[in-house]
Amino acid sequence: MSELKLYNTLTRTKETFRPIDPANVRMYVCGPTVYDFAHIGNARPVIVFDVLYRLLRHLYGAEHVTYVRNITDVDDKINARALSDHGEAIAAGTMTLNQAIARVTEKTANQFHADVKALGCLEPSFEPRATQHIPGMVAMIQQLLDKGCAYVASGEEGAEVLFDVTSMPDYGALSRRNLDEQQAGARVAVEKHKRHPADFVLWKQSGAQAPGWEATFRFEGRAVAILGRPGWHIECSVMSAAHLGETFDIHGGGIDLVFPHHENEIAQSRCTHGTPVMANYWLHNGFLQVEGKKMAKSEGNFVTIHDLLHTDKFGGRKWPGEVLRLAMLMTHYREPIDFSVRRLEEAEATIHRWAKIRKAYSDRNWVKLNSAETTPSLADPIADFLADDLNTVSAIQTMQTMARVTEAALRDGDEGNMYVGLRLLASIAWLGIDLGPETAALSGPEIEEVLIEREVNRRLALIRERNFAEADRIREDLAAQGIQLMDYKDPETGERRTKWEVKR
Ligand SMILES: [Zn+2]
Repeated sequence: MSELKLYNTLTRTKETFRPIDPANVRMYVCGPTVYDFAHIGNARPVIVFDVLYRLLRHLYGAEHVTYVRNITDVDDKINARALSDHGEAIAAGTMTLNQAIARVTEKTANQFHADVKALGCLEPSFEPRATQHIPGMVAMIQQLLDKGCAYVASGEEGAEVLFDVTSMPDYGALSRRNLDEQQAGARVAVEKHKRHPADFVLWKQSGAQAPGWEATFRFEGRAVAILGRPGWHIECSVMSAAHLGETFDIHGGGIDLVFPHHENEIAQSRCTHGTPVMANYWLHNGFLQVEGKKMAKSEGNFVTIHDLLHTDKFGGRKWPGEVLRLAMLMTHYREPIDFSVRRLEEAEATIHRWAKIRKAYSDRNWVKLNSAETTPSLADPIADFLADDLNTVSAIQTMQTMARVTEAALRDGDEGNMYVGLRLLASIAWLGIDLGPETAALSGPEIEEVLIEREVNRRLALIRERNFAEADRIREDLAAQGIQLMDYKDPETGERRTKWEVKR
């Protein structure tokens, strides 16, 4: 297959990927802050970097890739959540603030794991939590103080250790921001304890309403004890160094993290270690909108992964994980994505089509399914698209062409073209798409039933959109397979419903 090319935010160009050590290719991706259900925007980097992880494992061998995705379990949003969920117990003295925080983070981390498993994502090699790395953070902050890159100051909520951005000549290189412009635009009044408005918190004092760790820093010849907690950025610098070393290959996350989060991670790591780069390739996925609008609770379009998987809040029904995953990959990862019911229906129709082909292959015994699905070498054209900066869009378009050729081969009994379907089945594995426990675990007739049910629902959705031509086409397709539809009114709601039976 072709060599791997990745678009690097640091250089704003697509570059050929060359790992520091092919025997240990190292990738770090910023993970969730665990205070509530992850929203669908959080699913995008998890899916995108899972596709890259699978590709790297194929290229370098599964045992030669280390993937770290952290869990942020220290954050003021978590404290607020703990106080709102367990405030009474804390006030009554039956639970401490730290116990309440542990409950919130444990529950939320479990929800996140269940969500991303349903989305077909492999587990990362390491999943460090901020609370496990507090001593490492204190040590790194001390190194920054010793090198003159940080200082202690007194802010509104008490003592703080701040990073001094002027200590780093090329601060702002990733986001291409210049410090003078930032100074001009800053609200100086609220931040007068800072030497420069862009200086950011490494450690801050905690009051009674926030978790705190004892830390003593040496600064200007004196010892400064601050019972406090880390700023947001320091954890990623510490955890990436702990698992991947001072310099590693790929750092990923959402485009919204470029500034300030990734810029500040770079400043901390490079200044601590004295290295010219923190990671060689910086990858960022684009924004996500929902039904054409920025997702916001105030817009009423805020939707979590859990909502989509388990409730009918979006489009009046639940959506399988593999449908969400394919819907995400139908847009190139760097482009903005509009998440909509229409997009999910399109992804679902594609998955039905692939599932039908898989079933037909299984029925004809043309392939032992497991071997086809775990043999990516059969799918080289798709691997080439993915190697070109994860071009999932062209990959999926090509897979649709393969599906058309395969359907014709099946219809005509043309065994000469059966390899196209084998390539298609292997390609589906490349995207990390499992055709679903719904379809995988069931026997033949049950698969048929699931597929028919889905087509019937798709037709009803089309009728609601007044797309009668497409709805009729589905009715005719089903009729050709001997499946007859009968519409009726729901006696309670008056809504159109459909029964079906087989007339063969
Ligand atoms: Zn991070």
